[in-house]
Amino acid sequence: WGRWWCVLWGGCGVCKKKLNLVMVTVPETAGTCEEQLKMGELICRGRYTSVYRGALSERSVAVKVYPAAHKHKYDNERYNYSLLLPRQQLNIARFLCGDERVDAGGGAHFLLVLEHYPQGSLSHFLSRWSVDWPSCCRMMHGVSRGLSFLHSEVLTGDEWKPAMVHRDVSSSNVLLRSDLSCVLADFSLSKRLTREPCPQHGGPKTQHGEPRTQHGDSVSEVGALRYLAPELVAGPLCECGAALKQADVYALGLLFWECSRRCHDLFPGGTSPPFQLAFEAELGREPTLQDMHRLVVRDRCRPRPPLQWRDSSSVLQQLKETMEECWDQDAEARLSAQCVEERLDQMSRLHVPATFTHSDGAGGRWPAEPSS
Ligand code: ADP
Ligand code: MG
Ligand code: MG
Repeated sequence: WGRWWCVLWGGCGVCKKKLNLVMVTVPETAGTCEEQLKMGELICRGRYTSVYRGALSERSVAVKVYPAAHKHKYDNERYNYSLLLPRQQLNIARFLCGDERVDAGGGAHFLLVLEHYPQGSLSHFLSRWSVDWPSCCRMMHGVSRGLSFLHSEVLTGDEWKPAMVHRDVSSSNVLLRSDLSCVLADFSLSKRLTREPCPQHGGPKTQHGEPRTQHGDSVSEVGALRYLAPELVAGPLCECGAALKQADVYALGLLFWECSRRCHDLFPGGTSPPFQLAFEAELGREPTLQDMHRLVVRDRCRPRPPLQWRDSSSVLQQLKETMEECWDQDAEARLSAQCVEERLDQMSRLHVPATFTHSDGAGGRWPAEPSS
């Protein structure tokens, strides 16, 4: 636990009452593992990492292992978790500690020890199970709450969390607890934002103008291609916070589409179509940047709502509008994550029409037996 930061605003040096001086702690790195860590079986290979089951003393954990070649990503993710730590939020993956290990051949590996989320990633879960409307809402609401928290600057007492952006929002970077509540995870590309306004967004307006990213490096590394907002596919993006937040919200809209297509309550007869990633029908599993450019920049294409949703109830109408306002071509017209969170809160109070909930007994529904 590291250094002290002074946040100064709205005061002069003369009057102590006017001088609004707040001392907040910002941990430089989150804790090193002090308890004994035992490694278990491989859960999953991510883009740059391997994730294992593990045990920290008696606690069941997941261990995300970075090879030495990706140490900078490990450093970044660990730093990002340290920024998130002081105010542990329910919809953000729980970081426990970090460590470095050297294998028998002398190679270094870098470990992030996280709470273990037994249902794994959202994409994995939805490929096995369909869900009812309350569970679907809980998932979408949870992710938007996590993102809204991430995007916000939070200052309470001596705790400070800067506004941050995720930059890799996808259904494989959302994890599920047993009760199907969701957490946002994989902060390896995330960035902390500062307060300076971005010149491309109208220049300095007030002292609380939109922040831009703290680090000087360009947005050269991007998240999974299929979730990239059109302005990111088209070219390098301004490093300002507003634009990066808008790109996160675009990906959130795609994630809602993936999730709601697996909600059996939203389909007459109660059978949802099989899981598909956004744009999988159009571009398959490995889209290239050129594919994405053609689809989302040139043709302004977005995932199509299922045909069954044509004659919309008010639930479906609101759901479709929310997705469309998340993935608007005009980034500035997109909803903020806070607004999406509020919308989902309202939507979760709505009931789906009774005609939709009639079940034809098809399998694959959570929590019944999974389809093959
Ligand atoms: P990468 O940065 O390499 O993409 P992720 O953090 O996204 O790594 O993890 C890759 C996958 O590992 C996730 O999609 C998920 O399936 C699994 N995973 C990661 N962390 C956990 C965890 N804490 N509990 C359960 N599964 C996890
Ligand atoms: Mg990932
Ligand atoms: Mg990652």
